[in-house]
Amino acid sequence: MTYANIIVNISHEQLDRTFQYKVPTHLEGKVTVGDYVAIPFGKGNRVINGYVLELTDTPSFDPSKQKEILSIEGDGSLVESRLLKLAWWMKETYGSTMITALKTVLPVKKKIKNREDKRILLNIPVEEARAELAECERKHRTARARILSHLIEEEELDHRLVTQKLNISPSTLKILEEKGIIRIDKTRVYRNMQLKARREEKPELNAEQRMIADAIIADDAAGHHQTYLIHGITGSGKTEVYMEIIEAVVATGRQAIVLIPEIALTYQTVLRFYKRFGDRVSTLHSKLSDGERYDQFERARKGEIDVMIGPRSALFTPFEHLGLIVIDEEHESTYKSDTMPKYHAREVAAQLAKLHNASLILGSATPSVSSYYAALQGEYRLFELKKRAKEEARLPQVLIIDLREELQAKNRSMFSRALQQGIRDRLEKEEQVMLFLNRRGYAGFVSCRSCGEVIKCPHCDVSLSEHRGNRLICHYCGYESGAVTECPSCHSQMIGAMRAGTQQIEEKIKKIFPQARVLRMDADTTKNKDSYEKILSSFANREADILVGTQMIVKGHDFPYVTLVGILAADLSLYANDYRAGERTFQLLTQAAGRAGRADLPGEVIIQTYNPEHYCILSSAAQDYAQFYKEEIAYRKLLKYPPCSHLLAILIESADEHAASDYARHLAQVLKNDIMGTMIGPADANVRKIKDVFRQILYIKSEDLHELQRCKDLTEHDMEEHGALVRVTFDMDPMNGY
Ligand code: ADP
Ligand code: ZN
Ligand code: ZN
Repeated sequence: MTYANIIVNISHEQLDRTFQYKVPTHLEGKVTVGDYVAIPFGKGNRVINGYVLELTDTPSFDPSKQKEILSIEGDGSLVESRLLKLAWWMKETYGSTMITALKTVLPVKKKIKNREDKRILLNIPVEEARAELAECERKHRTARARILSHLIEEEELDHRLVTQKLNISPSTLKILEEKGIIRIDKTRVYRNMQLKARREEKPELNAEQRMIADAIIADDAAGHHQTYLIHGITGSGKTEVYMEIIEAVVATGRQAIVLIPEIALTYQTVLRFYKRFGDRVSTLHSKLSDGERYDQFERARKGEIDVMIGPRSALFTPFEHLGLIVIDEEHESTYKSDTMPKYHAREVAAQLAKLHNASLILGSATPSVSSYYAALQGEYRLFELKKRAKEEARLPQVLIIDLREELQAKNRSMFSRALQQGIRDRLEKEEQVMLFLNRRGYAGFVSCRSCGEVIKCPHCDVSLSEHRGNRLICHYCGYESGAVTECPSCHSQMIGAMRAGTQQIEEKIKKIFPQARVLRMDADTTKNKDSYEKILSSFANREADILVGTQMIVKGHDFPYVTLVGILAADLSLYANDYRAGERTFQLLTQAAGRAGRADLPGEVIIQTYNPEHYCILSSAAQDYAQFYKEEIAYRKLLKYPPCSHLLAILIESADEHAASDYARHLAQVLKNDIMGTMIGPADANVRKIKDVFRQILYIKSEDLHELQRCKDLTEHDMEEHGALVRVTFDMDPMNGY
């Protein structure tokens, strides 16, 4: 007789344990670990689903009292059993229930509706198409030229892609169809972006690239699997190196997962992989329906693909012989999940690589401080790429503008004189401009307009946030001060909370340059599903001269005609109230600067700031990572922030304000007596109330990760004992302030 330990598919702490069921004779030998099964549950024998975590010969209680499994709803296998192990590790590490960890890791089979998609194909030979393209270009028929050049490169195009990303109108398509140049095929049914690209000759790797690829391939061949960090400036050819190594891994019959931040997961990037690996590639992204996602996982399970590209959830692709995981732009904060379990893709990837004996490659132009630290400690092997791969691509010229001097010169606008001159110049030359407002971390901090002084907490070295009644509060320790009306440094009265948005900038720019065509990209203009790609492609097609936007505009796209990037208030993210503000600022500025002048036109970057001497500003202007790291790590060491120490955030939430703060205080007392570490708080969270739920935050710092894990266990235990009416979530080494 076989018994199955099953975890039921109900999100409830009390049920977060396994229940034992008998495997009936007709299912004997068919049930495997990882299967999704139907079982009768509770007194009423309600039919519910669950996952088989374990099979055993020994019953854990009287077998005559055990119920039987009803049916198998979804298959499990070796692959699932590995993913189950991973889920267990996530539950233990990040503090979530097993069932939420499982739901993160295992896709549930859903009924899937097939959708009809239209495909566009070339109806004439490629040579004729080239002639037609030349003709269209001569007559300035840009839309027709655009689709033709894409069809020459790729055998067929998705209809949605053509209308949305390439911005081709249905009437243009109709004309081309009537002329017999293209064919619109409706018979084939696709459910995902599956590109059919012509395979392309790969470029010969340069010496630096070759050395890295060879070293990692040799390690892999020797069965020596480890984590690598490739620090290479934008355009230095990291992606080519990844592809070279993936090719070697795939050649030995194993598979690869490539993580790319969702925002950079553009058509351009994905196409390169299809050109190299053909249809043995699949892509995941958040706009896929559950059915489409499941489909892609099925293809992986059946061995139909070798490479999966996607955001962090692509880690859970059920590959049988995973050989390599690549995390591009590894510093991106989107690799950290913001729902339970709050895992970091880098850590989960390392664990997954261990389970599979696979290698892990992290790559970035601006590595996270924690990865670089790990590399310098010898935990990761570090490689550097210092030159751009294409000779003609030059690094931009960077100009730092001191906004205090602008004010002294009676220029009160958001645009320095140099920036205004730069924009005028580009408009004349018909080149393009990107204006970047670094609004992330905006939390109403108070700064002096005359000298740039920011009011900070005396205990935490983070900025204070302005609250109703002009009180200033530290969200790390709860320190409070009254309103500030005079700058403590220069005694100017021009002090107040910083408020500027992309919309104001767009309006002001239109006033100063009425002739300019301006596009804006921020959370407001990209609410619609496709608007993000639409704005970017419209700008890429030179339908506008100036693109104003938040950090969304700095990633993933090449605009060869952008020769000026203006960073309007580089300090805005510097004083966000968490310890990673400097790191994020350096990354954003370095990336924004990298947007200028990527092709044959030289680029210029203008950084406007109140802190021209700040190390983050100086090192990003010089594109000097080493300098930035040196200063940043000294600060982290001094204040015991990650990676020099670990930090656990405990968020306590309740609809009852007192219940939240009472429990937070109680918990702090409990932990204080038992934990080796430094406690900060409890205090109101950064956002004190969300949807009528009050939030308290408690931070604990310790160099010993186990000590913090013990903290989590003690908290869970205390919650059970007290039947506390609060919700508690954990965030290990948080990426953002609470
Ligand atoms: P990164 O991923 O570091 O930003 P990419 O791999 O995207 O860099 O390379 C930047 C550009 O340089 C791409 O257009 C790529 O095709 C090209 N490139 C990369 N390596 C080489 C090489 N060895 N020879 C010629 N071109 C290259
Ligand atoms: Zn403080
Ligand atoms: Zn001042």
